[in-house]
Amino acid sequence: MIEEYPETSRKQIFVLLFLLILLGGLAIYFAFNTAGPNTVVAEQDKGSDVNEPYVEPNQPTTEPNKPNEKLEDPNDKKVLRPVHRHRAYTERVEERSRMVDWQIEARSVKDPNVLSAMRTVPRHAFVRPTEQNYAYTDNPLPIGYDQTISQPYIVAFMTEALKLTRNSKVLEIGTGSGYQAAVCAEIAQEVYSIEIVEELAKISKKRLKELGYRNVFTKYGDGFFGWPEHAPFDTIIGTAAAGRIPEPLIEQLTPGGRMILPYGSPRGFQYLVLVTKDKDGKISRKNVMPVRFVPMTGEVQKSPK
Ligand code: SAH
Repeated sequence: MIEEYPETSRKQIFVLLFLLILLGGLAIYFAFNTAGPNTVVAEQDKGSDVNEPYVEPNQPTTEPNKPNEKLEDPNDKKVLRPVHRHRAYTERVEERSRMVDWQIEARSVKDPNVLSAMRTVPRHAFVRPTEQNYAYTDNPLPIGYDQTISQPYIVAFMTEALKLTRNSKVLEIGTGSGYQAAVCAEIAQEVYSIEIVEELAKISKKRLKELGYRNVFTKYGDGFFGWPEHAPFDTIIGTAAAGRIPEPLIEQLTPGGRMILPYGSPRGFQYLVLVTKDKDGKISRKNVMPVRFVPMTGEVQKSPK
């Protein structure tokens, strides 16, 4: 009886030791298996932030449609919208908003898409550093090479006159700074813009890309001839004045389309002219506002009518 007691307690000690070793083993096993994957996941996360293309919330992705993929709305999926990731969009927001309130809405531009585009596009990013403090004033500004970025109100007025929708395809003559193209690109599906001054064409192309305007396509050339490879266009906007409306532009306008451009003596009296083409191809013209634009150069000056 006396010896049985220590024997039982030895057994208990062995069982306890066994359990302790088992628990220790399990603890070591779990410690290694949880620490390992966490470290790897953290590294993967870090990498994917850098490498994955940025996709803005609520924006369609940039990925091309997969073959055989059933699309609910093919138009929506193919469209590349501007990506507002550049820091310029978060700068001078108040100034931009005041510009829209006081210079644009106050002068009766009503299209909510135009007002929203003008609140979004960072105009100061389209002018040289020396002009940035004046970017939201009620004026045109120099952009170098004897050219100007139009007064904000004129940009808004002309954009509204085009009656852009999310499906519109726009042709612009005179990219200049790229600002007007960006405003149209906020609303329309695609903007094609031509600039005759090579340096300006280069600068605006780079700028539009950096600012995320994936739906703007630019080229260096004479806008007189339009862009036949991408014609027809639902809307055409000219931002340089001529005493003649280039015939190729009228041809490249879709039936039912709208075109607005400054018309008149390059250094004198000019009007914004709204040209519409009806479904049967009949052209109508209307003078809508007196303006002052830089002259359209190139072919249009060679054979004035
Ligand atoms: N839309 C521009 C305004 C630029 S001013 C903006 O938002 O900044 C007009 C521009 O038209 C100038 O850059 C000028 O070089 C360009 N231009 C003049 N004649 C042209 C032509 N025939 N073809 C294309 N661009 C032309």
